[in-house]
Amino acid sequence: MASLVTSASVADREREAVKQSSFVSEVEASTRTFIRINIVHSRYRKIRANLTFPEKYPSEQLVVEITSQGEKGSLAIPVGLKKKLEIESMQACKAVMERREAVKDDEDLTPENSQMLATCAYLRQFIDSNRFVSCWKELKQTAGLVTAGGNTIRMSDSTGTIVLNFTSLPYNYSVQLSIDEGYPSTLLNEVDPLPIKIKVKSTNFPDSIETMITKQAIELVRRCCQGRDPVQALQMSNPIRAPRGFVMPQGGERSARITKDTIKDLEHDRETLLKMKKLKDVDQAKQAHNHKAALNSTKERKDARRELNKLAHREIERDDELEKKMSQAEIDRAKVEAGWQDDGDPVPSLLPTANFLIESIVKFQNRTCPVCSERVLPENPNDLKKLFEKSADGDKKKSAEEKKARKEMKKKRPVRCYCNCWYHAGCLDKYMTEPPFGAACQGTCSGGPVHHPDYPEDKRTLERTWNAKQARIREMEDAMLFL
Ligand SMILES: [Zn+2]
Ligand SMILES: [Zn+2]
Repeated sequence: MASLVTSASVADREREAVKQSSFVSEVEASTRTFIRINIVHSRYRKIRANLTFPEKYPSEQLVVEITSQGEKGSLAIPVGLKKKLEIESMQACKAVMERREAVKDDEDLTPENSQMLATCAYLRQFIDSNRFVSCWKELKQTAGLVTAGGNTIRMSDSTGTIVLNFTSLPYNYSVQLSIDEGYPSTLLNEVDPLPIKIKVKSTNFPDSIETMITKQAIELVRRCCQGRDPVQALQMSNPIRAPRGFVMPQGGERSARITKDTIKDLEHDRETLLKMKKLKDVDQAKQAHNHKAALNSTKERKDARRELNKLAHREIERDDELEKKMSQAEIDRAKVEAGWQDDGDPVPSLLPTANFLIESIVKFQNRTCPVCSERVLPENPNDLKKLFEKSADGDKKKSAEEKKARKEMKKKRPVRCYCNCWYHAGCLDKYMTEPPFGAACQGTCSGGPVHHPDYPEDKRTLERTWNAKQARIREMEDAMLFL
């Protein structure tokens, strides 16, 4: 009986000590049999635990249960971490029990003699020193993805640094990702804080390609931090300007960039133009032998003019409607360009970043050019570097042969289009300036029209240029016939 009284008083004293201790941020509930505590480091790094006294406490071990604590399901403590924390808390309790000395009434309670304080101290130390608490699951998935491709990952939980070494293929890229204390948000009060700082350590990609990849990764992190869904964040981080009429995809799925409506509109335009031309012909055609006399009767010409008028009127109305539609698309485009944000809660960006890097570094190396079906990258990274090398003395002092060789080299350069597919510069040029004028990308994307800032967005411009060129060639051929 005496021991029961002692036990109860020990538990009481421990409960009181926990309330006073600096290990715990808040005691949410406290009864004779259990206590619920919150230990908070930052908004996204916190633990909630239920500590239950067994009947024979303190000669029996305290029961520690970590309960999920997150504002969104995705940020709750993942199962793996929960188990780890529970097991290690119990070990801390065990260490106290192994002292086997009962705590004297006048003795102060410390993590050395109190299972409760030992648990709280351990949890506090863990949450304060481990920067990966708020990206535990993401980090595990990232490690899985990176190592599956034969690449390596190194991490330090105290500094929050993760080094990804993509070195299994000819083109390598090593990058350091530093997780902010406030991840997936940031604790820093800088002008442009980022939940993940990205720093390239080494790579054998030419500067222009490395910069394109790294900059986009940084931008992706920023967009996620602004509360963007990763799919939208990736789209918004695209360094290539969005084409006209581009509609932002809804979160989680990507809509086709050219809609059926757009195609219908273009077809309608062409049909109307043909109709109008025919009507004009009826009105203006002259007789073959008398160029002053009209070919058609006055009534036929009058009807044609009236019909032409009606058509023009309808077209104006249609154009107005189209304009209204376009302005919505324009708004979407402006939003994309200006980095419009909706101030949502920050979205975790580690896994999206890892996925993006794997796509842009590892998978990129096996991609083929949609036009010639050959690999976009030369096998030897040194050959790629040569393609991008600038000649020291410019093109001036070069012989015609050297100039031609340089031109051929430039054609081999990999070029990325808006849809994220890579082409050889020469192949892309052919595909854009000749039929089908980049109408549909044959790469790994969803197959929308090819868009690259070096070429006009309006495919009709490309078509007109080509037609003019063909006409010139025909004229030359005709002229040759007379020589
Ligand atoms: Zn090619
Ligand atoms: Zn594509």
